Amino acid sequence: MGGGHRASAEALEAAMEREAPGRLDVAIVDVWTQYGAFPFNKFVPSYRLAAKYPNVLWRSCYFATSFPPLMAALNLQHRLTCSRGFAQREHDPHLVVSMHPLTQHVPLESPRISPYLPVRRQVPFATVVTDLGSAHRTWFDKRVDACFVPSDAVRQLAGRCGLRCGARGAQVRQYGLPVRPAFWTAAAERKHRLSAGSTAALAGELHLSTDRKTVLIVGGGDGVGSLEGIVKSLAKHVLFMPPNQRSRGHAGGFSTQVCGKNARLQQKLERQRWEGVDVCARGFTSRMSDYMEVADCIVTKAGPGTVAEAAIRGLPTMLSSFLPGQEAGNVPFVVESGFGEYSSNPRKIALTVTGWLQDATKLEAMSEAAARAGQPHSSGTIAIASDLCEMAEAATLSLTEHTSPRLSPYLPMS
Ligand code: UDP
Repeated sequence: MGGGHRASAEALEAAMEREAPGRLDVAIVDVWTQYGAFPFNKFVPSYRLAAKYPNVLWRSCYFATSFPPLMAALNLQHRLTCSRGFAQREHDPHLVVSMHPLTQHVPLESPRISPYLPVRRQVPFATVVTDLGSAHRTWFDKRVDACFVPSDAVRQLAGRCGLRCGARGAQVRQYGLPVRPAFWTAAAERKHRLSAGSTAALAGELHLSTDRKTVLIVGGGDGVGSLEGIVKSLAKHVLFMPPNQRSRGHAGGFSTQVCGKNARLQQKLERQRWEGVDVCARGFTSRMSDYMEVADCIVTKAGPGTVAEAAIRGLPTMLSSFLPGQEAGNVPFVVESGFGEYSSNPRKIALTVTGWLQDATKLEAMSEAAARAGQPHSSGTIAIASDLCEMAEAATLSLTEHTSPRLSPYLPMS
């Protein structure tokens, strides 16, 4: 439902195409919006609303659905309202992959014996957990053939929910969080990032100042959180920095960058006059990897996607908020790995970030720590894709000669 689930699904689609070029038909499906009856087809806008009010709306939804009887009732309701549309889908999957905790139940309960094939057979099912430091228990269904987890914390949780953990080949497989192709070649990218010339060239391409330090400020795909307060506070505190500390080169100044789908905030920040500071408010960008390369550090909510990407990019990370439950575990992941801090107070955020920017040694040490924490995630996407391709191949091989030779892994997500 959040930008992270979609970004991870797109990452796997690209990685699977790389693993088996031209042999895959991948369909990314938003099960609820496409097949759910009201109010289930409104999950995506409801997610956005809940994420705007994390301590009231999000918290109550998240923890209420951890209560088994309530979850059972919700699952029954999903099955009654959504299964029919899902089962009638024209796709003929050889593999189903769930990228969201609420897209497990319907595909697992729907006819897993494909009605479209001349030879009836079981459709394998995999879950790819896209949370990082903690995860909702609905991610873990014992009936899945494989469950891919990104971290020790999530693997342990899967084990506690009764899934079989162990060496490679077990039901639970730990590789990393799927990230988009631009983030795969971490080591090479990092060298690239440290080269001042190429960073300046990229900044110019993105219409950012080429000689000023840059803080990237994001609030997930939807631009949620107290972004306005953070930008204002940062802009104010930057003015207290000595001019030579604000710039990469000789000209004074500073630039910040805000991304996401929050058009209202973007317009508000664009209208505002900023003294001595550049604030470049941008809408949703598909070039997040490039913005991360140009930035000296990032301020973000603790979304798993952004945290993993920032780590791969070796970006010191200031966490400004988290969704209770789901993203709470990402805070210790960042702080204990040594590449960031957490505060929800805009003034503290501004003080911390301006402190980092004036301490090149600290910034460099944090950048190294981030790259270490990000390593599994840069290589994990290809590993997951490779296993998924193997699962699809195995399912195809088990069919008779009547069956189409093309693979069609089928990726439901929201
Ligand atoms: N993102 C992006 N462009 C933007 C803002 C965000 O591509 O302008 C991506 C970001 O790189 C990350 C995802 O959206 O991959 C956000 O995922 P995250 O898990 O951090 O938060 P969510 O939006 O799912 O709550």
